Amino acid sequence: MKKFRITFLNPPYLEKFSRSQRSPAVTKSGTLYFPMWLAAACALADREGFTVDLIDAPAAGTSRQDVVMRLKQFAPALIVVDTSTPSIQNDAEFCKEIKAALPKCFIILVGTHVSAMPEECLNLNDSIDAVAIGEYDNSIVDLANTLMAGVTQFSVTGIAYRHKGKFIFTESRLPLEDLDQLPHVSPMYKRFLNIEHYFNPNALYPMVTITTTRGCPHECVFCVYPQTVMGHKLRMRSVENVLDEMQYIVENFPNARAVFFEDDTFTISKKRCVEISEGIIARGINISWTANARASLDYETMRKMKEAGCRCMCVGFESGSQEMLDSMKKKITIEQSKAFMEDARRAGILIHGCFMVGFPGETQKTMNETLSLAKKLNPDTVQFYPMMIYPGTEAFKWFDERGYISTDDFSKWLTPGGLHNTVIRTESLTSAELVRFCDNARRKFYLRPDYMFYKLRQVLNDPEERKRTVKSARTFLKYLIKGSDISN
Ligand code: SF4
Repeated sequence: MKKFRITFLNPPYLEKFSRSQRSPAVTKSGTLYFPMWLAAACALADREGFTVDLIDAPAAGTSRQDVVMRLKQFAPALIVVDTSTPSIQNDAEFCKEIKAALPKCFIILVGTHVSAMPEECLNLNDSIDAVAIGEYDNSIVDLANTLMAGVTQFSVTGIAYRHKGKFIFTESRLPLEDLDQLPHVSPMYKRFLNIEHYFNPNALYPMVTITTTRGCPHECVFCVYPQTVMGHKLRMRSVENVLDEMQYIVENFPNARAVFFEDDTFTISKKRCVEISEGIIARGINISWTANARASLDYETMRKMKEAGCRCMCVGFESGSQEMLDSMKKKITIEQSKAFMEDARRAGILIHGCFMVGFPGETQKTMNETLSLAKKLNPDTVQFYPMMIYPGTEAFKWFDERGYISTDDFSKWLTPGGLHNTVIRTESLTSAELVRFCDNARRKFYLRPDYMFYKLRQVLNDPEERKRTVKSARTFLKYLIKGSDISN
C-alpha cells in the first residue's frame, strides 16, 4: 500500500443535494444519487495501491466542519472534489476552507461543469490547483503518481492546472476503451457509504446504483454527460463483469432490494440486454432491477428483462410534439413511444416517463400535446420539467446565443430551497409559464381518479411498492399540491 493518500469528496452543500444526477438539485421526489463517478475513481486508486477515503457529505449530512476535521485526520496529499453547475460557487468556496486547514494538499475539481468550463473554474479562486476534463479515473491515478514523485509540471493528460501564475492545459485524455479494466464500485460503497442514504423512486428501496456502459451515441441537445464527460462513443462492460458485480451486491448488501443501472441508456444494445438477462437467470441472481431505456426497445427483449427481475424502466419520451422531438434531436417518433408503452405493459414492466418542455419553437399548443401524450401513454409515474440547460451542451449554446438565459449566476439554477429552477425562456414562453405548465401537468396526470385508484391498488397489494411509494410520496405530495417556487 502506497503511503500517498487521496480523498474523494462529494462536498457539503444543501442537505440531500443530488450532485451526480443529470440535473443536480434537491429533488421533489427525494431522489439522491450515489457518488458513482467518484466511487469509480476511488476504486481504481485503491486498486493501484493508494490509501483512499470517500466522503459523501450531502448524503450523510456531514457538516463542513466535520468534513474538514475528517480531512485533517486522514491528511490526504490529493483531494478530488466533485462539482456541479448549481453548486460550483459553493464547491469552490469550500476548497478555500480545505486549503486553509491543509495548505499542502493538492485540490482537483471534477465533473461536468468543470469539464465544460475549465478555465472559468480555475479562475474561481487559487485554492483550486487543477480541474479534470472529461472522464477522470485514470487522470487521478496518473496525477497521484506524478505528485508522489514530487513533480510539479505535469504531462498527465486530461487536466488543466495552475503553474507559476498561468493555466496549463495538458493533452485531452481519450475515453477508456475497455471498461472491464476498472474495478467495481460497489465494494467502495460497502466500505465508505450507507446504501440506505440513497433513494430513487423508480427502484425498490434500498438500492445500489451501478453503471455498465459509458458514452451515448445519440445527440439529444440537452443531455449533459455525453457532451461534457463521457462522449458519444459507446463502451460496454462485458456481460460476465456486470453479472459478477450483481452477484457481489446480492451477497454483500443483504438489505438491498434492487439494483439501479444508471447507464445513459442500458438498453442501447438489445443483444447485450438479453445476454445480461439470461446471465441473471442462469446464475440465479435474485434481485429486482431498474434501468434507463430509450423508447425503441422491442417486446421480446422486454420479456426477457422482466423474466430476469427488471421491475421498471426510466424512459425519456420528452414531448408529445414530433416537431419538438426533432428539434431536440431525440430521434424517436411518437408512434415508437406508443408501441414501446404497449409492449412494456404486455411484458409487465413499469415505466417512469420523463417529459420536458421549453425547447426551441415550444408553444402552449406543443406543451398541451405533451400532457396529452403522457396521459395516453399512462406510465406508472411521470416527471414534467422545464428543460434544464448546462454549459457544454448544444442547448445551453442555443439559449445563450439568443439571450434566453435569465442569469449568469449558476447558483440560480436552483431555488433558495435547492429545487430545480428555470432560468430559460423561449421565443414565446416565459420561465413562469414553463414552470406553471409543469406544475399543472403533474396535477392533471397524478390526480386523475383512475390513476389514484390504480396506485391505491398497487400499494395495498404489494408491500415493496408500498415502502417505495410512501417514501417518495412524503416529499412529492407537498410539491404536487403547492407547486414550484420560481426564483430568478
Ligand atoms: S439517448 Fe438519452 S443518454 Fe443518449 S443523448 Fe439522448 S437523452 Fe442523453
